[in-house]
This record gives sequence, C-alpha cells and structure tokens, in this order.
Amino acid sequence: MKSIKIATFGSHTALQILKGAKDEGFKTIAICEKGRTAPYKMFNVADEIIEIPSFGDYEKYEHLLIEKNAVFIPHGSFVSYYSLDKIKKSKVMYYGCKNILKWESDRNLERQWLQKAGLKLPMVFESSEDIDRPVIVKEHGAKGGSGYFLAQDKKDFEEKIKTKKIGKYQIQEFVVGAPVYIHYFYSPLDGKLEIMSMDKRYESNADSLGRINTNDQVALNINTSYTVVGNFPIVVRESLLHELIEMGENVVKASRKIEEPKGTWGPFCLETILTDKLEFYVFEISARIVAGTNPFIDGSPYSYLNYDVPMSTGRRIAREIKNAVNSNRLNEIVE
Ligand code: AMP
Repeated sequence: MKSIKIATFGSHTALQILKGAKDEGFKTIAICEKGRTAPYKMFNVADEIIEIPSFGDYEKYEHLLIEKNAVFIPHGSFVSYYSLDKIKKSKVMYYGCKNILKWESDRNLERQWLQKAGLKLPMVFESSEDIDRPVIVKEHGAKGGSGYFLAQDKKDFEEKIKTKKIGKYQIQEFVVGAPVYIHYFYSPLDGKLEIMSMDKRYESNADSLGRINTNDQVALNINTSYTVVGNFPIVVRESLLHELIEMGENVVKASRKIEEPKGTWGPFCLETILTDKLEFYVFEISARIVAGTNPFIDGSPYSYLNYDVPMSTGRRIAREIKNAVNSNRLNEIVE
C-alpha cells in the first residue's frame, strides 16, 4: 500500500481522483500539460506534478510512472487523447478494463452493448429516406455535444446536411424529455453495484434558449448546440431507483458477454433522456469516470447513504484499489 501511487492526467476529473486518493492514504501524481498546473497546485491534491509538453506525448513519460509504481486512472481527457492501441501497449498499471473502451468509442458497438442489456434506446435511422420524426444528427467522435444538429423532418435534414462539413454521422430519433446521467460503480471484489450520483449537464446554447423568446430565436437564426460547460447535481424520484439499479446491473451482465469473461468494472455512466411517460431512453454509455461526478467531491445524497465519509467517485476508485491491495487482489482490477 505504501509503495503504490495514484496518477492521472491533470484535467477532467483529476481533482476528485487525486483528492480521493490522498484521503484513502495514497501518494498522488498529476501529469499536466506545460503551463496548466495551476488547479492542481491551488487545491493541493498532487504530491508530485509531472509537466509534459502535451498529453499526446505521454507515451515518452510512461517509464516514470512505472518506476514510481503508479496506478493510472483513466478519465475522459485521457480516452480522447490516447488511442486504444496505445492504451493496450502501455505497461503502466491501468485501473479498469482496457478492451471495454472499444465498445464505448464506436456508436454502433455501443448500441450493441446497450441492446444486449435490454435497455430502451432512441431509434437510429440508417438512411435519411426513413426519417419520419425529429432527429438529432451526431458526428462520430464528436466531443461534448459540439458537431450535433437537429432536424425537424427529412426535408429539413437534407437542407441542413448540405451546409455541414461533417464526417461519419448517426441519425438518432430526438427524444423529448429531461436528461438524466446516472453514475454507477461496479466492484468485482464484492460483486456489488452502487449508484454514486446523478447529474445533468449545463450546455451552451441549449440551456440558454429559454432566456430568448421564440421570435428572437427565429430572427437570430440560432441553431441549438450542446457544448458542455458544466454540470448540475440531481436526484430522481425515489420510485425510479428500482429501474435504474436493474439497468445498471444489466449493463454489467451484458459487458461480460461482449468482453468475456470479466466484462467491465469500476465507474460507468448511462446517459439518458427521461420522458413524461417516465421511460428512460439511453443514448450513450461511458465506461469510465465522467465529468458529471465533479459536483460530488464531498459525496452525493446517494453516496451519503452508503458511506460515513464523503465518497466521490474518485475516492471510490482509490478505496477499491486500497481494498484490492489489502486483500492481495490488485491484479484483478488493474491491467
Ligand atoms: P452527448 O454529447 O451525446 O452526451 O449529447 C449531448 C446532448 O444532446 C445531451 O445532453 C442531450 O441533451 C442531447 N441528446 C443526445 N441524444 C439525444 C436524443 N436521442 N434525444 C434527445 N436529446 C439528445
């Protein structure tokens, strides 16, 4: 335990990962891009900061983490900078299932996983000819909702797509409802699933359109965009928890079918739209810690029920590593 350190990229959810690791008794390392160390110094969460020119250069510095006996915690910024091939080749101790990233990074594979879990998904239109309702068009690999557009119908889609410089995309049914993002944690050490917290995103300009009346929206020719700028905590009606627990359990079970035999473990998030009929439509899964857990550095109403200390998802990861080390099972949760 004393010799193991916890490391992550200085970005995304690093504050809670490093703070949580320190609270659990680990020494911590932040790998920061040159000139971007200020948050990790101001909030004093890193025992050591390694500055590298860019996250893209991480490969050249991996040996430092190996020498320091560090377990690396992946998060959204890491996954977007580092290809699956590189992740697989890396010799640094990595917390989580490497192969599962393949399933979350490709919209078609992601859909197969969610379907195997029996979840309700928005319809996907393979051809624009089939569009018979409002749709949201998503470029593959689009980050944080930028590069999406809405179309009312087939004609609107065809007019808009002509004006876009867009690569491969998916046409999804636009589900009207409230976005709810559920943050889960699955521990293979004791086979238990937990709901850690939930959020909704603060998106520009989608969340500001209500401040502009319809006439002005039309006059200004505003296109809805979903660029994430932050996150709000939410709790759901308690009667919905039963279903959310079942959905999370089914995702874990389905992951064992797509990535035999162990499936996924650690944090994951289901991104859903909850309709006025109280049906959850799942439009995305992230198989790692998500930025929506950031409002809960001091715990959430849900984690408060399970723990007598403030338990963020970041700290929960460190607790898992500590439990694994203490029971000689670290090799079951790092790759
Ligand atoms: P994403 O980047 O895929 O998480 O999506 C960005 C935003 O688009 C989400 O916060 C949702 O509000 C919205 N969104 C994505 N997919 C759908 C959908 N099928 N129906 C309605 N809204 C959606």
